[in-house]
Amino acid sequence: MTTSRKIGAAPLKVGCVGGGQLGRMMALEAPRIGIQMMFLDPTGIHCPAAQVVPHSQIIEGSLKDADKIRELAKDVDVVTVEIEHVGVETLQELEKEGVNVQPSGRVLSIIRDKFLQKEHFDAHKIPLPPFRETQTVAAIKDAARDLGLPLMLKSRTGGYDGRGNAVLQTASDEDIADALQKLGCATETNGSSNGQVLDLYAEGWINFVCEVGVMVVRSANGEDTDSYPAVNAIQQDSICRVVLAPARHVKTEIRQECEKVARNAIDSLGQGASGMFGVELFITKEGSVLLNEIAPRPHNTGHYTQDACTISQFENHLRGVCGLPLGSTKMIVETAAMVNVLGAPSGTEEDTLKSSNAALKMPTAIVHWYGKLECRAGRKMGHINLTGSSQAEMDSYLSQLLAIEGIPIS
Ligand code: ATP
Ligand code: MG
Ligand code: MG
Repeated sequence: MTTSRKIGAAPLKVGCVGGGQLGRMMALEAPRIGIQMMFLDPTGIHCPAAQVVPHSQIIEGSLKDADKIRELAKDVDVVTVEIEHVGVETLQELEKEGVNVQPSGRVLSIIRDKFLQKEHFDAHKIPLPPFRETQTVAAIKDAARDLGLPLMLKSRTGGYDGRGNAVLQTASDEDIADALQKLGCATETNGSSNGQVLDLYAEGWINFVCEVGVMVVRSANGEDTDSYPAVNAIQQDSICRVVLAPARHVKTEIRQECEKVARNAIDSLGQGASGMFGVELFITKEGSVLLNEIAPRPHNTGHYTQDACTISQFENHLRGVCGLPLGSTKMIVETAAMVNVLGAPSGTEEDTLKSSNAALKMPTAIVHWYGKLECRAGRKMGHINLTGSSQAEMDSYLSQLLAIEGIPIS
């Protein structure tokens, strides 16, 4: 679906479900290409996006509230999302009524349920870790026997930053009960789920050598799919802490394989797969590439594109969902890195601001602050992009930032 840019009093309008940092960074780029954004967010004018658009363009309400989603959709040319945990059913109803939802409700409904996601990609021959449906404790025990230990249990919906995941070291009743408790579905200490159907599935444990992210962009008419270079996505406690672009210590052919698998995965979603997609991949010791999960939106591992590529993931998301020509995904610098700024363990403002204050004094660092009103330990507060004409030049700044953020340097 192609939407035309407009000249004059009525810019092209994009309504975004969610006004967090990803929405805010879209909104910072939108006016430059003639797009006006509206947001729906539970915190209303206190959300990160509300600091960069007029408050008249913010609707306060739950991301699953049908009436509020309808209000957002009423006056815009395209409805998009900055998070997958939204009222997808309402978006699907709106599509039937002629609203242009990008990516489509069908695509969102596959992605927001990690198990359906895995089934979809399996059916399309995308390489994956082995996985199993585990709706009962008995099924978890069967999965541990067949897929081996440790076993990764994952919530089908709603997880992020590893919060919907639990690792089983043994299949004992006690360990299963602990895992179910962590995942919010335990009711008894003997490993029973009280007969309830568990909203979980299991994955075989992958001893990966590194995690890679590939940002894929696809146009709303499905005519064009492109990818940014594969990057190292370095995680700590299941939260992305550092990204190195392009990926280091990965052979060129494996990097290209990652990009190919990522593009094939997004193309397999078919019509309605539009805008940016964050594709998370594992590389194993043997050099196999396996898809972990995808996100239907700009992604943490793509933040470096703001300062290291011709067109950022945020502008390309808007171009993709509006059916405009896609922008170049090429890097314009030799090397780049991104460091996430998390709320410091002490939770204080002073400690949390240390890395970005240091970055403000670095010649090749660019600070991106999210404007969150409250600082909590571990909360994503901003990120710092670094660019360089050589790794040696950039890495001296990178190590300073890693030391302040408390990220072990290897
Ligand atoms: P995000 O914040 O990226 O949405 P999430 O909560 O959806 O994360 P996953 O991406 O499924 O969680 O997993 C979080 C991390 O856990 C991964 O980045 C990886 O480090 C580890 N992990 C996930 N699945 C496996 C697996 N099958 N084997 C080994 N490690 C895994
Ligand atoms: Mg996820
Ligand atoms: Mg993930």
